[in-house]
Amino acid sequence: MDNFPTRYLLNREALHAGVPLVHGAIRGFDGQVATIVPGRTACLECIFPEAPPAEVFPVVGTTPGIIGLIQANEAIKYITGAGDLLAGRLLVWDGLAATLETFTVEPRPDCPVCGGEVRP
Ligand SMILES: [Zn+2]
Repeated sequence: MDNFPTRYLLNREALHAGVPLVHGAIRGFDGQVATIVPGRTACLECIFPEAPPAEVFPVVGTTPGIIGLIQANEAIKYITGAGDLLAGRLLVWDGLAATLETFTVEPRPDCPVCGGEVRP
């Protein structure tokens, strides 16, 4: 998805259907990935309660490749049960610095979509 309103719609439908959503976003040299598992992790609107302003921005061709491969890797891990998902974590790629960092993301009890309800 290339905009937050559509991502929010996908988030709500994934939660409703009980299926995971592998979120990915890019801008310029930067990207991010998070795996959202309904009932287990923060949802997209817990992580991003407000959409960033809509804008047209450049993207370096390598960025969607890197982020898309990480998203595909998450899907493979979810299907096979291998490894550790980016569940409850946001991975941030800085293509200029060539660094990857992950940050813990928590469900928000005041989230209008999931209410922050997760099972242990
Ligand atoms: Zn939520």
